[in-house]
Amino acid sequence: MRKRIIAGNWKMNKTVSEAAALAEQLARKNHDADLVEVVVCPPFTSLAAVRDALKGTAIGLGAQNMHWEKSGAYTGEISAEMVVSTGCRYVIIGHSERRQYFAESDEMVNRKILAALQTELTPIVCVGELLDERQSDQTEIVINRQVRGAFAHLDDVQASRVVLAYEPVWAIGTGQVATPEQAQEVHAFIRSLIRQMYGDAVADGLRIQYGGSMKASNAAELLRQPDVDGGLIGGASLDADSFWGIVKAE
Ligand code: PEP
Repeated sequence: MRKRIIAGNWKMNKTVSEAAALAEQLARKNHDADLVEVVVCPPFTSLAAVRDALKGTAIGLGAQNMHWEKSGAYTGEISAEMVVSTGCRYVIIGHSERRQYFAESDEMVNRKILAALQTELTPIVCVGELLDERQSDQTEIVINRQVRGAFAHLDDVQASRVVLAYEPVWAIGTGQVATPEQAQEVHAFIRSLIRQMYGDAVADGLRIQYGGSMKASNAAELLRQPDVDGGLIGGASLDADSFWGIVKAE
């Protein structure tokens, strides 16, 4: 049985006080932590304030990005160890906005994953096709390339620590959610790839989140799919009630 994982990606939203206020609202909510792992990923500037607001709760903290080097002359970047030192246990890697606007390649994504795995961080690794790639039947080719790129040089133990997020780029922030069948088809494909690469134990344990316009009203039917193990939520994670509607989806 894979434990469901629901993560909120706050992206470049909220000042420190706004982020703390949202975290305080979340801290007052309840969920069964044995059934659902809940994570929030605020901007770097708010990590400490959100960590403090969530103290004593079962909600985990994650960063939205990191650099693969340990330290040095990389102005504007932060390392895995720095992410850990803020209280994070998770880090999003290879989000499509990073790939699209900051030219992150599969190789860079892989380096970040390897660096995160040298610490106790759980990498939440995003893959997903563009609209024209889906329309030209390239989805499996793109996902295959991204998944194999992300997992390059990872052994079984490392691979089993990764959470994958399938985020069709055409569904992110557009309100155009993938159908449960579309999501299930790609999730099953991803699991089959991992099975080829690492065998049954890693494949059956791998958690694959869906991301792309997930909200309380569509979460249940997506999460009911056999290979959908959670959600990575953008817009709907910026409001405590709408995020919690997804956490509680049955
Ligand atoms: C995301 O960016 O990871 C995401 C899924 O965004 P949204 O939920 O807003 O589509």
